[in-house]
Amino acid sequence: MTTHGHFIGGKLVDGASGRTSDVFNPTTGEVQAKAALASAAEVARAVDAAEKAFPDWAATNPQRRARVMFKFKELVEKDMDNLAKLISAEHGKILPDARGDVQRGLDVIEFACGIPHLQKGEYTEAAGPGIDVYSMRQPLGVVAGITPFNFPAMIPMWMFGVAVAVGNTFINKPSERDPSCPLRLAELMMEAGAPEGVLNVVNGDKEAVDALLQEPRVKAISFVGSSDIANYIYAEGARYGKRVQAFGGAKNHMIILPDADMENAVNNLIGSAYGSAGERCMATPVAVPVGEGTAEELISMLKPKVEGLRIGPSMSEDSDLGPLVTAAHKERVANYIQMAIDEGQEALVDGREFKLQGYEDGFFMGGTLLDKAQPSHKSYIEEIFGPVLQIVRAKNFEEATQLPSQHQYGNGVAIFTRNGAAAREFVQKVNVGMVGVNVPIPVPVSYHTFGGWKRSGFGDTNQHGPEGVKFWTKIKTVTQRWPEDVQGSEFVIPTME
Ligand code: NAD
Repeated sequence: MTTHGHFIGGKLVDGASGRTSDVFNPTTGEVQAKAALASAAEVARAVDAAEKAFPDWAATNPQRRARVMFKFKELVEKDMDNLAKLISAEHGKILPDARGDVQRGLDVIEFACGIPHLQKGEYTEAAGPGIDVYSMRQPLGVVAGITPFNFPAMIPMWMFGVAVAVGNTFINKPSERDPSCPLRLAELMMEAGAPEGVLNVVNGDKEAVDALLQEPRVKAISFVGSSDIANYIYAEGARYGKRVQAFGGAKNHMIILPDADMENAVNNLIGSAYGSAGERCMATPVAVPVGEGTAEELISMLKPKVEGLRIGPSMSEDSDLGPLVTAAHKERVANYIQMAIDEGQEALVDGREFKLQGYEDGFFMGGTLLDKAQPSHKSYIEEIFGPVLQIVRAKNFEEATQLPSQHQYGNGVAIFTRNGAAAREFVQKVNVGMVGVNVPIPVPVSYHTFGGWKRSGFGDTNQHGPEGVKFWTKIKTVTQRWPEDVQGSEFVIPTME
């Protein structure tokens, strides 16, 4: 059986710790490979490689760094089907969705191809007598990204795309549940011309993460995963003096006003709630119809669609969703469904007993639709991260706006309406980081930035876009003059007069 090792100093290396974890095939339920779990010593080797590569890479002119990103984009496009298969086989998402995972990462690589322009500094001529002021954005050094299982292509590329393009050297610690795609991306970066040590991948668990947090040579950490761990990474990283951004879980709401185009709302909702088996941080696990009439209409149109979801093997091209990532996660989701029922929610559709013929040991679940969730219910407050949609009925617009605003998570939210004024007021008032207006999954494009609020995001700088350039660089500001005459001493703070 294959054991996925690490990618350090430009090549694949075996794990040396003797510790591994299982990599499942979620469609069959079998263990298909192992992932090596790095020790602190192995993490240190990756940092050695990245540290060695940093001075030359940082000194490489931005246009040349951009050319590596251009070439990388071309190679990933050529390898798209292979990368998608690696993702589907380990994650369980269907192939077209896996290609989307790669494409949304590639969008950030495209953005990073413009790094010579994005990394330009600012200049003020004659800020004082004979004085010019300029600023530059310099890379930080060795930096790291700790990524979740649910987007093994997109999220590593969000991070290293920008971090490497601005001149840092990078260590990715991907999820131990689907290690193959991040390793392949590192190989492709080398093929694209990145010098060895510029992008490293270390597989591992908490031990590797703690080693990165405690390693003084790692200057910044970007994290995406669940909120308790995001909070831990943020606090620990800060304790060790690092720059940290840490993105956490979510519970995104879709508000449906009585004047919405209901067919559109339902079509959008079913895809965003159940696509990728609900294992997306921008999924829509909560629907909020406003008014009893809207709720009844929504349910009458939604229920048959949930019952009719096409669930199939991850390698299928024409299913709506595949299996969940592991048996343990499937059980966790099933427990939340039971909790919701015990809390008094009505299971209009219960997907727990679903079995896919021929794949009875796979981690499949049918879609579940729960009505009458209340803001006090634990199953509503917490993230379920499965093919489960909860309906919270709101009496009016104000109540509907309060629900996502007061929820502990603030990643994404959507409103469906034909009323521009209501949508505008909602956008203005809602206490959530990314908002969709008649758009169910408002993941911003790569040249804008991604990031949630409250327990969905710790730190103050978003992923990719100009915010990404800011996160992965430090600013240096220079005040210069070239006097021809002798300067007197000044004991008063200079005021540029
Ligand atoms: P996770 O928190 O279990 O794991 C994320 C990373 O942290 C992995 O690399 C994992 O190996 C590591 N890790 C796990 N336990 C750790 C520990 N105790 N100490 C240190 N590191 C640890 O998350 P996951 O299950 O891989 O991903 C799903 C979660 O990620 C969901 O909560 C989802 O909402 C969230 N997510 C958020 C975003 C976002 O942008 N906000 C995007 C995608 C996923």
